[in-house]
Amino acid sequence: MNSSSNVTVLGLGSMGSALARALVARGHRVTVWNRSPERAAALVALGAKAVATPAEAVAASPLVVACLLDYDAADAVLGAAGVPALLQGKLVVQLSTGSPEQVLAQQAMVHARGGRFVAGGIMAYPRSIGRPNCMIVYAGDAEYAQHERTLACLAGSSQFLGANPVAAVGAYFALSTYMIGALGLFFETAGVARHYGISIDQYYLLARLTTDEVVEGLRDGAHRVATGNFDGKLASIDLTIAGMDEVRRTFVATGMPVKMLEGLVDALKLAAAAGAGESDIARLTETVFAQARQS
Ligand code: NAP
Repeated sequence: MNSSSNVTVLGLGSMGSALARALVARGHRVTVWNRSPERAAALVALGAKAVATPAEAVAASPLVVACLLDYDAADAVLGAAGVPALLQGKLVVQLSTGSPEQVLAQQAMVHARGGRFVAGGIMAYPRSIGRPNCMIVYAGDAEYAQHERTLACLAGSSQFLGANPVAAVGAYFALSTYMIGALGLFFETAGVARHYGISIDQYYLLARLTTDEVVEGLRDGAHRVATGNFDGKLASIDLTIAGMDEVRRTFVATGMPVKMLEGLVDALKLAAAAGAGESDIARLTETVFAQARQS
């Protein structure tokens, strides 16, 4: 650690507690507040200072990290008695989950009070806070740079996406769908594998080996999207539909409809109906984006 800072953490649920723990572990002077005060005890035992009101918490530090259930809760805490007048000169890093509209409304409120605002999205479960496999996306005011070193202890990788805080929400929503979708598919298909006598340990190993090819597919697909080369020589969407529809029918016939596979086949068929049948699967990027522009 290069220097210790004063940091406030509002909200000590599973995630807020993990964030506060990581900050304390790096030697920062951490002030915490939680609606139910008893949740602060574990942090105080580690060296954090607990205060009784959101106003005392916000007054304590130039950097205020909020991690509450949702933006309604976050709005309530930032609007609590005495808090708005204290936002002048503070950087609020909002790590609660909210819609783009809620993020923009809260940014405007903080700006109106002379504060600066950054929205973030945590691409990890609380167990991974502070570890190399944790990534957090941020976007918002440039004052982020002044606190970048302090925030760096929360994640192995911190990615700042620019001045518009909605970018952090968009990235967080897209990446959450990707991450939880991948986990959901792993567990649904682990059930199928078990039906065929494959143990979870074996399936875990096989899935990890298959993930190497997924990573290669991400690299190749990103290049295709960037260059607009969607030729389907490797495997066209039509070919993939034929194969995956067979898999889908087999799972249904075995009494194990894999719901996420049904959704995948539907998405591929929609793309084929839109004229992308001879293209590489990377063209899903274009078909879903085109639908968004039409709606
Ligand atoms: P959690 O364990 O359910 O904690 C929720 C926190 O919000 C608690 O501190 C709770 O206080 C507080 N809260 C709820 N309503 C409130 C209100 N009206 N006024 C003041 N405080 C209120 O949730 P979490 O897992 O820490 O998640 C916090 C945020 O992180 C969420 O927006 C979540 O989407 C996001 N996130 C979580 C994960 C994860 O894996 N957990 C991952 C990425 C992002 P009390 O203790 O008094 O109830």
